[in-house]
Formats: sequence, C-alpha cells, structure tokens
Amino acid sequence: MIGASLRELSAALAAKKVSAVELATLFLDRIERLNPTLNAFITVDRDKTLAMARDADARRAAGEAGALLGVPLAHKDIFCAQGWKTTCGSRMLESFIAPYDATVVEKFKRAGTVTLGKCNMDEFAMGSSNETSYFGAVKNPWDLERVPGGSSGGSAAAIAARLAPAATGTDTGGSIRQPAALCGFTGLKPTYGVVSRWGMIAFASSLDQGGPMAASAEDCALLLNAMAGFDPRDSTSLERPAEDYTRELAKPLAGLRIGLPREFFGAGMSDGVRAAVEAALAEYRKLGATTVEVGLPNSGLSVPAYYVIAPAEASSNLSRFDGVRYGHRAAEYADLNDMYCKSRAEGFGAEVKRRILVGTYMLSHGYYDAYYLQAQKVRRLIAADFAKAFEDCDVIMGPASPSTAFRLGEKAADPVQMYLSDIYTIAVNLAGLPGMSIPCGFDANHLPVGLQLIGGWFDEARMLSVAHQYQLATDWHRRRPAATA
Ligand code: GLN
Repeated sequence: MIGASLRELSAALAAKKVSAVELATLFLDRIERLNPTLNAFITVDRDKTLAMARDADARRAAGEAGALLGVPLAHKDIFCAQGWKTTCGSRMLESFIAPYDATVVEKFKRAGTVTLGKCNMDEFAMGSSNETSYFGAVKNPWDLERVPGGSSGGSAAAIAARLAPAATGTDTGGSIRQPAALCGFTGLKPTYGVVSRWGMIAFASSLDQGGPMAASAEDCALLLNAMAGFDPRDSTSLERPAEDYTRELAKPLAGLRIGLPREFFGAGMSDGVRAAVEAALAEYRKLGATTVEVGLPNSGLSVPAYYVIAPAEASSNLSRFDGVRYGHRAAEYADLNDMYCKSRAEGFGAEVKRRILVGTYMLSHGYYDAYYLQAQKVRRLIAADFAKAFEDCDVIMGPASPSTAFRLGEKAADPVQMYLSDIYTIAVNLAGLPGMSIPCGFDANHLPVGLQLIGGWFDEARMLSVAHQYQLATDWHRRRPAATA
C-alpha cells in the first residue's frame, strides 16, 4: 500500500480491501518513524487525521463513492486548514491556528481526502532549498546531505519517502517543479487562475498558483480534478467550465510536436541533467513525437524580471503581518511604531526581510518606473515569446532545474546562486502557463533529474497525457530512494 498509486489506493478503498483509517494509520506510522530524520512535516496531528479518516469511511458506508474518498494527502503549510496550525514556514505564524479552510483544502475535504499533516516549506515560499524555513531544513530522501528543493520541500520529501502518497504545493517561480525534479516525482503548476488562491497565504499574487505533487501524471490529473475550479472569493480565479483532466491520458503521442527552446539547451545545465533530458527526448521521438527548435529570446530576462515583480508584490502582501491582528507580536515595545518594528524584526527571517526591502525600494517613487514598470514590460515580452513558440509546437520541453539536488548549505549564503535554481521555471510563471516536472533519469551521483513540460494556456489535459504516455513507457517515476526504504 505504501508504494501504491492514487488510482490503486482509490480502487482498494472502493473494493473495501482497506479502510481509510487503516490507510491513514499506515502513513502516520511511517511519518512517526521517518519524519525525525527528514523534517518534512511541521505539524502532524494523529487524532485529527484519524477523525477525518473515520468520516471518510462513514461516508463510504453511507453509499458515497468518489475517486479520492479516503485517500491520504499532505498539505503544504501555506494552505489555511481550519483548526490546524498554519505557519507558512515562519516564526511570524508559529502559533497561528487557521480559523477557516483555503478553497483548495475545502475542495479536498469535499472529495473526502484525509489530511496527514502540514508540510515544511521555505519561509513564505521564498527559496529553492527549503533552508529558509523557521522550522529547519528538510533532507532529500535520495541523499540526506542534500536539499529537497523548494519552496515546497517538505511536500517533496514526504512524497519521495512515501510519507504521503501525494501532496499540495504552490509554485510562484518553480516551487512545485524544482522540488519535484530534485526529489524524483511528478509535479504540476496549472495555468494561472485555474486553482483558487483563496486561503493560500500570499507571496506574489500575480504569480502564485497551487498545484498537485504525486508520483505520476495520472495521480496529478486525479488531484487537479479536485483542486481546480472557479472561486468567486479569488478575484483572479477564472470562470471556465469544469474539466476532467484525465480525459486525454490515453491519447497516443503520434504527431506530437515538441518545441525545444534553444535558450534552455545552452550552457548552464549540468552534464548529468543534459544526458537524462536528451535521453527522454529520444524516448519521445521513439514514441512518435517530433522535435523542433523554438526560440524564447527574452527568457534570459526572466530571473531579473521575477526578482523585481515578486519582491514588489511580497512587500505589499506581507505588510499585513504587523503584530496587531494575528501572528507574532514582540513581548516588549515602547509605542505602536516600535511594536511594528520589533514584531516584524523578530517574526521574519533574513530572506523574507531581503525581499521586503528590495520590493519596497522597487515600488518607491522614482524607482517604480525604472524597475517595476520595466519588469512588467519584460513579462509581456516573455509571454509573447511563448505564444509565438506555440505556433510551431504543441508542448515545450527542457530541463526543470539546471542541476540535481545540491548539498545543504551549498548555496544558502549566496542568494543569487540560489535564485538561479529557477532559471528554467520562472518564465512559465511570468507567462501564466502550465508546467510540469516529471522524473527522467539519474545523474552520476544517483540523484533524480526532472524533465520540464510546458503547455499552452489551459492545456493541462494534453500536457498530462504527454507525461502519462512517457510514464507508460518508462519507470523512472516508480524508483524509490533506498535511504528511506
Ligand atoms: N525560488 C523562487 C523564489 O525564491 C520561487 C519560489 C516559489 O515558487 N514559491 O522566489
């Protein structure tokens, strides 16, 4: 059961071969055993989890079905879950108990999933290694001396070590795809506006998007079916008819045109990543796809544009944490202003403060036009590049991350090196496109490599089928780390 796919877990639950309580117990026991090593979860609450599992079993006994009823799932600690501590990886929210459910959490509850706990993450989702978390670093199950990627690093380690069969994540600049690549499983960032951001603690609102993380594309499709949909409480949620994201899974690859951006295949990627990505492309050709070179001439500007736009939005979003209404408040202060200063100085970590300072500067009078407005223009050019590229291809492919998992501490002291971890993922967020990372091999250090797929706007179903067909022909997504057997 521990190694089963969501489809298999769902079938076992439907056939009453296992109950939701038995399944939850199995994973909770595994969390108890392995989490002290991995630090993938910030909060585990056996009683709450088992109560949800009993409820799922009761719903099934009453005749309810549903693909995810009774299936265990972990949530990134950025999603508010009623009655659960929701920290966003920050001291600022160390003791914050969410009074309501995020739309995503509510939708999963309705589908009957059982929450296994809240996963560790970079503080306010700012990071690529999970090392900015107030609750400590997370270890990569493939090599305990390496990072799992970030910011959804806890979700990633939990899936790789099978502490959970699936998890939610969020991706502002790569935080679903990069950890999926570094931990060897499948992660999907949907088109901006497909998954509601309501109750998902805001980092950079025009880029943030929640999405599924699981072993396979098929599992991600099942999860996206539950997560996606219009939400009137999120002003950027898109009002579109509901979709079944599994509907194209069986579609063969024959005739598929894969675009390979020349900017993604130059210098910068490690040899191990290049070899695995090239081998995956050869496999796709064998399966009937053709490849064509495309250009994303402005993609080189994506990291600088992102590090103007994301901090600008973060500086505004994080102004709500003032020590007045909720979150950390300093114990002693002279007056109101002193309370703001001390509470924020104590509550936020170094990376979050760096972003707030940078963002506030960018938005200030005299700099707004020079930086923020320019970055917005670059963003438009990047989206136009993609639109043009999709005239010649159906899906774009390339590496998800320039390297495999790096060592804990290796980049922690150098923010720019850390920012470059997302060099292949960030343009996708700036353009609002859907993207995925799927496992496609290992490097010489036996560390997993991720292949990135980028679809056209709202083309999730097709992108998932392109991933699924590859996973039918290969078994990279079934490999498990030995360290956490
Ligand atoms: N690593 C990027 C950052 O630090 C992206 C993070 C994310 O997608 N949440 O901003």
